[in-house]
Amino acid sequence: MTDRYAVFGHPIAHSKSPQIHAAFARQTGEDVVYEARLAPLDGFAEGVAQFIATGGRGANVTVPFKEEAFKLANRLSSRAQRAGAVNTLSFDTDGIVGDNTDGAGLVADLTRNLNRSPAGKRILLLGAGGAARGVIEPLLDQQPAALVIANRTVSRAEELAGLFGHGITACSFDAADTPFDIVINATAASLAGELPPLSSRIFTNNTLAYDMMYGRDTPFLDFSRMHGAATSDGLGMLVEQAAEAFFVWRGVRPDTAPVIAALRLDRERLAATPSRGPRT
Ligand code: NDP
Repeated sequence: MTDRYAVFGHPIAHSKSPQIHAAFARQTGEDVVYEARLAPLDGFAEGVAQFIATGGRGANVTVPFKEEAFKLANRLSSRAQRAGAVNTLSFDTDGIVGDNTDGAGLVADLTRNLNRSPAGKRILLLGAGGAARGVIEPLLDQQPAALVIANRTVSRAEELAGLFGHGITACSFDAADTPFDIVINATAASLAGELPPLSSRIFTNNTLAYDMMYGRDTPFLDFSRMHGAATSDGLGMLVEQAAEAFFVWRGVRPDTAPVIAALRLDRERLAATPSRGPRT
């Protein structure tokens, strides 16, 4: 029988996860279907319960339900525990298991797709929200030379640094003004088309500037490029975190490269399509 999976979010229509998981299923021959489910803002737990009752085997969770999913799970992986958020749920006879594959997705994208292993590197992480928290431990596991967290509200960066202990420092955007090998934008500024107030001194010609947001160019990527950095959006992270979730559910690791390439091609085609005028 075909196994059912879904992604829960609000909004959810924009989600590329159904397309990504359909590609993984075709590639691996796994008998699964994967759909996008819009949960009401006050109806996430009910939505998940209903999905389980109708045979759902697992689910991904996106904005704004990752913290709620953390609370909903009966058991948590250690990486979900440290992240304080869950993006992958598995349903079995003992209940709901929560995991977090975002950090593994980022590290896989940096290491395999972009050839920028964090090992021994100076890393600047911008932001102290859910996305930042989820990637700290997987980044530290790679043993960077330094990990600095800069945030608009400095106390939130300090709190995170305190939570993870050794090897991390926290500061304001202004105070980050020395060169870094990798600068990761995990703020929500790009969503609003804004640029955090960054010093150009954080970039050199060897810096990789990585924006977790995907789908369009951002002021952060423009600014980084202008100051000599190589750049990447977060599309690779999206596909890699999905592959890690697929592995958690099915025990099979899909090949991510053709899926990333197909999504990039879609994006280019869309950008090249002349926009239509208003419908009459
Ligand atoms: P949160 O809302 O939890 O965190 C928001 C963070 O952004 C806070 O640190 C906040 O600072 C900061 N911030 C918000 N607006 C601004 C601004 N205008 N200037 C500077 N800082 C700002 O969001 P998430 O952590 O969940 O998500 C962050 C980003 O990561 C989003 O773009 C999301 O799409 C992306 N993401 C991508 C994934 C992928 O697979 N590619 C996976 C997960 C997330 P303060 O504390 O001062 O409020």
